Amino acid sequence: MTLRNKLILLFSFLAILTLSSFALILYWNSAKNREIEFFEVLEKEAKTKADLYFIEKVNPNTLSAIYKSNRATIHEVEVAIYTPPFTLIYHDAVEIDVVKETPEMLEQALKNGIYHFYQEDWQVIAMPYIHEEETYIITAAAYDGSGYAHLQNQKRTSLWLIFGFSGFVFIIASIFAVYSLRPLKKMTETIDKIQVDDLNKRIPLKKYEDEIAKLARIFNNLLNRLQNSFQAQKEVVAHISHEFRTPLTALLMEIEIAEEQFKEEAIQEVLSSIKSDALKMKTLFESLMDLAKSQYDQSQITFSRFRIDDLLIVCKEKTEKLYSNAHIRLHYKKLPENVDTYSYKGNPHLMQQAFMNLLENAYKYSKDKTCTISIDKDANHTIIISFEDNGIGIAANEQEKIFQAFYQNKDNAKGKGYGIGLALSQQIIHLHKGTIQVASTLGKGTVFTLNLPEF
Ligand code: ADP
Repeated sequence: MTLRNKLILLFSFLAILTLSSFALILYWNSAKNREIEFFEVLEKEAKTKADLYFIEKVNPNTLSAIYKSNRATIHEVEVAIYTPPFTLIYHDAVEIDVVKETPEMLEQALKNGIYHFYQEDWQVIAMPYIHEEETYIITAAAYDGSGYAHLQNQKRTSLWLIFGFSGFVFIIASIFAVYSLRPLKKMTETIDKIQVDDLNKRIPLKKYEDEIAKLARIFNNLLNRLQNSFQAQKEVVAHISHEFRTPLTALLMEIEIAEEQFKEEAIQEVLSSIKSDALKMKTLFESLMDLAKSQYDQSQITFSRFRIDDLLIVCKEKTEKLYSNAHIRLHYKKLPENVDTYSYKGNPHLMQQAFMNLLENAYKYSKDKTCTISIDKDANHTIIISFEDNGIGIAANEQEKIFQAFYQNKDNAKGKGYGIGLALSQQIIHLHKGTIQVASTLGKGTVFTLNLPEF
């Protein structure tokens, strides 16, 4: 889930939770108040009716008639009067009698002064009433129709409010998240454009510094340091390249001159050994320089269009010339339909180096010195090249490591190289936005497959 969506959801959830909690507390408070107030109303009603009955001596039939006539229009309080322990002396409407009083109920009222309870939705009280030193018990019951209607109304309004507010909050949260994350989005877009070969870009800084501006400033400082260190690396490589190449070339020339001059067998042997070491040093040095350059100097690499199958033929011939016992076969999985079938835009010199490394490895690590190159093109115009040998193979746990610079299998690679070839080949293929994969079985052979998409 994106940070923007997380913020929208969190913000909306918190706002809706707060509002719902308030609405719930208010509803609970109203319900409690309604209950208390209605019990008070019942008490007053019960007392008034008892006063009318005992003090004003109103005729019980009249009281009952008033009750029955009111009952048709409002939720009238139903009153009954008892003498302890349980003798009914007055009832508003015995035939209706919603509340069924019990002797225990009356006893509770006598003991505690007043007794409250619910019978379904009806609220009921029982309380003692003293008249001319005689104690009576009055019960009053009624349904708080208007109170419940009011509560219901409050519930409906709260729900609509929460529902409407949720939509509103969601819109506000979306605007808020987009607005807050805008600087971060701009920052990621800029960072995305920064490449190793173009470290000049910087994130624009704001006048005032908030957390994101601080992050941008720290990132810009990091880029400054990186740029300086890449610059230093470039200079070191250029410097070393110049300082080493000249004396190494001179050394090789001097050995050749010495070979011409000194024909004695012993001297020739020493010179040949020195020459072989010097050549090895030259190869290692050039590979190292290539690897270093390919890592930082991508802008220096020029891309041109060439036929990749032609380049493979050149590599095949070169390898066969270099190693007279090498057998290399080039196999077209898809025959070229025209000159453009295997036309490819890349750097032919670097590609040649990558292919040569793979061919040399097939030669070095196999007994039959045979390598089959297959070339194909898929529907997406990706050129697929594989180098297959019948050599010693690579163990499964080693297959990931072989692309690391300086990695060599200690048992079989002794004196056969420096562990740079595959790292360099991979780097070159990645520069061309391609991939290199290995599939191998110990004792049977190895296949390196290159996928080179059109770009
Ligand atoms: P090296 O110069 O040692 O050949 P590479 O980077 O070219 O360095 O190869 C790294 C390691 O991968 C080698 O030491 C070898 O063990 C293994 N390797 C590479 N290619 C093959 C192959 N075709 N068959 C078997 N092992 C291979």
